Amino acid sequence: MNFLQHLECTECGKKFSSEKVQTICEDCDAPLFARYDLKRIEDSIDKEDLRSRYPAMWRYREFLPILEDENIVSLGEGFTPIHELDRLGRDIGIKNLFMKDGGVLPTGTFKSRGLAMGVSKAKELGIKKIAMPSAGNAAGALATYGSRAGIDVYVIMPKSAPEACIIESYMLGADVFLVEGLLPECGKIVEEGKRKYDWFSISTTKEPYRVEGKKTMGLELAEQFSWELPDAILYPTGGGTGLIGMWKAFTELREIGWIEEEDLPRMIPVQAEGCSPIVEAFHQEKRESTKCKDPETIADGIQVPKAFADRLILEAVHKSSGTAVSVNDENILKSSKELGRTEGVFACPEGAATLAGAKKLLERGSIEPDENILLYNTGTGLKYINTYTENLDIDIPVIDSVEEITVR
Ligand SMILES: *Cc1c(COP(=O)(O)O)cnc(C)c1O
Ligand SMILES: [Zn+2]
Repeated sequence: MNFLQHLECTECGKKFSSEKVQTICEDCDAPLFARYDLKRIEDSIDKEDLRSRYPAMWRYREFLPILEDENIVSLGEGFTPIHELDRLGRDIGIKNLFMKDGGVLPTGTFKSRGLAMGVSKAKELGIKKIAMPSAGNAAGALATYGSRAGIDVYVIMPKSAPEACIIESYMLGADVFLVEGLLPECGKIVEEGKRKYDWFSISTTKEPYRVEGKKTMGLELAEQFSWELPDAILYPTGGGTGLIGMWKAFTELREIGWIEEEDLPRMIPVQAEGCSPIVEAFHQEKRESTKCKDPETIADGIQVPKAFADRLILEAVHKSSGTAVSVNDENILKSSKELGRTEGVFACPEGAATLAGAKKLLERGSIEPDENILLYNTGTGLKYINTYTENLDIDIPVIDSVEEITVR
């Protein structure tokens, strides 16, 4: 049961065979999208059919690019919960505030979705060695699924990457190399390794299938909200695969008539003030972003100076009548504490940034108090113990006796 037809350049529309290993369109230097026979999907499955399926991202089998089930490499990822943030919503003045929580996935971040898919497809195509430059979470997820698939994994990370992600990758059997420098320097090494060691690079949007894994975030949102999506989705945007993937899901669901045009949500990328190329491009009404010169934020996952798929991100924002917002590190930290203390969610800084963004947009009038607003938490705070320790004044008393405790 498979409906994948071909791959298509997102810029010039040129078609590529999905039976061979593909990367990007060489003519346009642009990402490729998987295209499906949507008419046949529509004829072969009903929304209601989904209900009885296992609660993981693979329940959307018909919309995914894997040809044979035996190639699926899985740890049960997907179908993450949506929390109603009633108390927090009341505090900040949004009546219906929700959070989809990617922190509960294997590897602790939503990177699992893209890499479960990317590695499954690599396995199906017979790829034996995968390499990737990563700021952290993607490396851990690639190591995880590579290990399960029996594929050799090489990750090149900045020396400054979160320790949790470095050790995670190591413990999961990847060959890990640290580089003095940031992501672009790591990327250069991977490019050279492709020629020298025959590596397949699974770098963000330079491989067509990771985004199909991220697409399941959108499919889940639609199903979990009974096919009536929230008014706006705030998403912490770095390379942008998550936002692009969700929008691709909504477009496909719209095409087969499972959701209505007027139910399409506004897509809102949230970035850090110290690295906000997408937000700047949006406000300057540009189709493409300008590389951020001195990226600086505690939210590593969204510290991307120029997203390879920036045009696709901006296109999704425009088509959805969305907007874009940047927030500073101080407010990210504050919002993370609020989420923890009011709603029981220990979020990563990137996820917390969406709460800071919601407050700012409410003030600006870009979201209304009675709208349904969804915040996307991309990972657990547990992977950022170092970040929180280094950036917050955490003073936990050491005591000798009960007398020293002040009760609240
Ligand atoms: C990678 C990452 C992001 C950014 O994701 P994109 O979809 O590539 O923009 C956000 N948050 C966390 C925790 C990440 O690891
Ligand atoms: Zn092209």
